[in-house]
Amino acid sequence: MSTIKSLFTEILDIPIKRPHQFSTVQVSSKSFVLLRLELSNGIIGIGEGTTPGIWWNGESVETMKLVIDHYAAPLLLEEDPTYVEKVLQILERHIRGNAFAKATIEMALFDALGKTYGVPVHQLLGGLYQDKIPVRWALASGTPEGDIEEGKNSVLSGHYQKFKTKSGKEAPEDDARRSIRIADGLRSHSTIGIDPNGSWDRLTTMKWMDAFFDAGIDFLEQPLPPQDIDGAALLSSMKKVPIMADESLASPQDGLRLAKEKAADIFSLKIHKSGGMKNTVKIAGIAEAAGIPCFGGTSLESSIGTAACLHTYGSIPNLDYGCELFGPDWLADDPVMEPLSIKEGFIQVPDRPGLGIELDEEKVSKYIRKIEKEK
Ligand SMILES: [Mg+2]
Repeated sequence: MSTIKSLFTEILDIPIKRPHQFSTVQVSSKSFVLLRLELSNGIIGIGEGTTPGIWWNGESVETMKLVIDHYAAPLLLEEDPTYVEKVLQILERHIRGNAFAKATIEMALFDALGKTYGVPVHQLLGGLYQDKIPVRWALASGTPEGDIEEGKNSVLSGHYQKFKTKSGKEAPEDDARRSIRIADGLRSHSTIGIDPNGSWDRLTTMKWMDAFFDAGIDFLEQPLPPQDIDGAALLSSMKKVPIMADESLASPQDGLRLAKEKAADIFSLKIHKSGGMKNTVKIAGIAEAAGIPCFGGTSLESSIGTAACLHTYGSIPNLDYGCELFGPDWLADDPVMEPLSIKEGFIQVPDRPGLGIELDEEKVSKYIRKIEKEK
């Protein structure tokens, strides 16, 4: 068998279709680390690292690039790529944290192995449960009127059928009121989940719980700060609106704790926050054993990272809440030859070897961060 020959990273900055309002920032472009992991057999695996922003968990594309180039790459050269678990353990032993960087490496490794064996990555993860997954779109236009119109147009045109609202920009009280207004405005067309990215407090959330229930809210995603596990358990015990864990759930150990403390009704899975596809499958297994359904979360990937998520989520039987893999639709451009697309509210799991994605080198050159070009 071949060995790992080299790891090469670049940063890409790709514009998005419209400004996107998160709890703390508004963004108009998205940054990615593109990793090319070459094996001694000549095959190159592609990995993509991206995060909603450094505010999300402390990692950024710049930290990922640094960790991969200066710390991970020297550890992995000459290693046998078929020993995936050994490679991951080497990274785990030598580099604390940095899950997003580790997930990027694992993604490239699986892509290279899939291409070597001639099988899609989902076969390496144990095989599919489903080959297409319903996608929920995040309404984040910045105004309730804009969000209601966007949601209605989407449903009527047969595109996305379910939605999420991003919250946390305003005071929790105003946020709750605004989300209910959007839910009411969309009532005859669809339903929404609410994602305040941990910016609410216990009392406000409890006070509004009946109103959320009446408005038919599908779930509250990480309403409280990630450390407040007791608070999440309290909200979950109210049995009004399902509480989804996102920022509070990264490692399999987090999953075990949330399940034991009954602090989540739904797990939001994300391959980057969990350090890769294998860990994500492990977390879904813990959820399955605990009777907790999962949601396929996104770090807003291009078609490269989205493909990795799809191979993973497609292999998970308890993905009852579908996914939010709308990254390729949200970006104004995609650095691959055939971007993934959402059709009638569903996204298809790729079926070609590896991730099933081919880079568009012209687009890659176009979006490489200038400072990297000058090196
Ligand atoms: Mg979230």
